[in-house]
Amino acid sequence: MKTEKTLNGECLCGDVSWKMNGPYEFFGMCQCSRCRKITGAAFATNLFVKPEQFSWLSGENKRGVFALPSPNTFGNAFCQNCGSRVPRQTPKGWMLLPLGSSMESPSIKPTLVCPEDHTDWFTRLKEIV
Ligand SMILES: [Zn+2]
Ligand SMILES: [Zn+2]
Repeated sequence: MKTEKTLNGECLCGDVSWKMNGPYEFFGMCQCSRCRKITGAAFATNLFVKPEQFSWLSGENKRGVFALPSPNTFGNAFCQNCGSRVPRQTPKGWMLLPLGSSMESPSIKPTLVCPEDHTDWFTRLKEIV
């Protein structure tokens, strides 16, 4: 399912903000070891859009960017003030958006990426009583 909904996002301190328009083609929740390290969490939650669907609202020049030499498709972008993950362009030309920075949700469902590479603690969740 695709949506034309506009989503906004911003980093924790608010210096870096952006918006994006649908249609949203791919929403990936990746649990590979690189995504776990870069987020400090069980998953990276990334929405991918074409560059023409994306605009910066503030702070593009306040970003830091890290590119992993190998594989060169992997990297990170972050607010230099608060350290939150912020959008970056991938070497293949997509805009990768950390969806946890948006207050709204796309209507497309996430796809689990790298299902075989995950933490064992994530599969042992305790119910909160
Ligand atoms: Zn920030
Ligand atoms: Zn990953």
